[in-house]
Amino acid sequence: QGAAEAAPSTARRDDRAHVLHSWSAIDTLNPTVVAGAAGSHFWDEDGRRYIDLSSQLVNVNVGHQHPRLVAAIQAQAATLCTIAPYHANAATSEAARLIAEVAPGDLNRVFFTNGGAEAIENAMRMARLHTGRHKVLTMYRSYHGATAGAITASGDPRRWPAEPGMPGIARFWGPYPYRSAFHARDDREECDRALAHLADTIAVEGPHTIAAILMESVVGGNGILVPPDGYLQGVRALCDANGIVMIADEVMAGFGRCGEWFAIDRWRVVPDLITFAKGVNSGYVPLGGVILSDRIAASFGKRAYPGGLTYAGHPLACAAAVACIGIYREESLIERARALGDAVIGPELRAMQARHPAIGEVRGLGAFWAVELVRNRDTREAMVPFNASGDANAPMLQFAAECRRLGVWPLVMGNRLHVAPPLNIEEAMLREGLAIVDEALAVADRYCD
Ligand code: PLP
Repeated sequence: QGAAEAAPSTARRDDRAHVLHSWSAIDTLNPTVVAGAAGSHFWDEDGRRYIDLSSQLVNVNVGHQHPRLVAAIQAQAATLCTIAPYHANAATSEAARLIAEVAPGDLNRVFFTNGGAEAIENAMRMARLHTGRHKVLTMYRSYHGATAGAITASGDPRRWPAEPGMPGIARFWGPYPYRSAFHARDDREECDRALAHLADTIAVEGPHTIAAILMESVVGGNGILVPPDGYLQGVRALCDANGIVMIADEVMAGFGRCGEWFAIDRWRVVPDLITFAKGVNSGYVPLGGVILSDRIAASFGKRAYPGGLTYAGHPLACAAAVACIGIYREESLIERARALGDAVIGPELRAMQARHPAIGEVRGLGAFWAVELVRNRDTREAMVPFNASGDANAPMLQFAAECRRLGVWPLVMGNRLHVAPPLNIEEAMLREGLAIVDEALAVADRYCD
């Protein structure tokens, strides 16, 4: 006879009785109850420890409970917890200046929001008002958030239940060399054909109707799709030629994740608007926003910008941003992300590819990587079908469960493992986590032909 099962904790009981979690059915979700976190790991209420290779939702870039970030929030709480956004205050002003300092080109002004989706809503609104046009072109295989406009702008299945959604979105295919929509044989062809396709899309949609092209500089949730060299430069040129506002969604890829302040910096392209959230303050207090070029900001020099939020520029969130940007600088975390990718994550994942037939492709940069799992490397048949759920998704569920059993918290999306640890993860812990992934991949290998 087994021991009686421990009674659920109060946290679990209350959760099960009263919380509706994001993207989840009440009856099937069984959340891990997290008791604490420090640096690049966290533990549940039974003391089970997980190395966090996900940075939660790719936002905890400086790791959990960073003492300097915690202290900054505490100090701000003791000074000024909240104030209406029509006032100025020291924390919000300094956060805006620091964000402008690290942003490329003449992106010098910040409109603050509570997170990424609201940043997208406002960036689209700014582009529409600036141009007097209404359409926004976005990519298939993209995610921009779950509010009405942002989810419509997204190019992944999460938008389906919200359709038809906001009018005025038209979609195009972006580059994805491993599964090319253009039958390209190499990166050069993929780049050229993706740009030709975008030019055609602009022509048939009518350039005079298009306010903005909105895209993730490096596609995150839909597969860490790093654009081939030349692609973002080509998009910039198409925007310039057609009077279209270029919006770079840097919510996930920005603030060091890709080994640059903003992922787009890698290609030296200056967009007109940048949307950010997540890494701006590592998610310690909700914060997002839009960074505006001087030209777009000038549109709102005389006319009032028609948009705002009760918590815009929240002092606690902005104090956390000031501290977080300070940590990136003082701990050289932008450079560290690049080094982690070049010296540890990339080489380790590629070595795993040689050992595991289930790995079809390894791709990424900085601390932002995807391991794409397949049943057959020759045919590239995905480990699970597109948008699989239930039994059809069993191989990925089993692989994720094995990672957790062995002590890694994995981020699994579709047929991929995304590896996106905090930028300051100790190398030994990162290697320990990757060794666990290596071991867990045996579960996926069993499904290969
Ligand atoms: N844009 C991108 C690229 C994202 O990855 C996300 C969230 O993952 C969002 C926007 C939405 O951000 P939020 O969840 O803060 O609304």
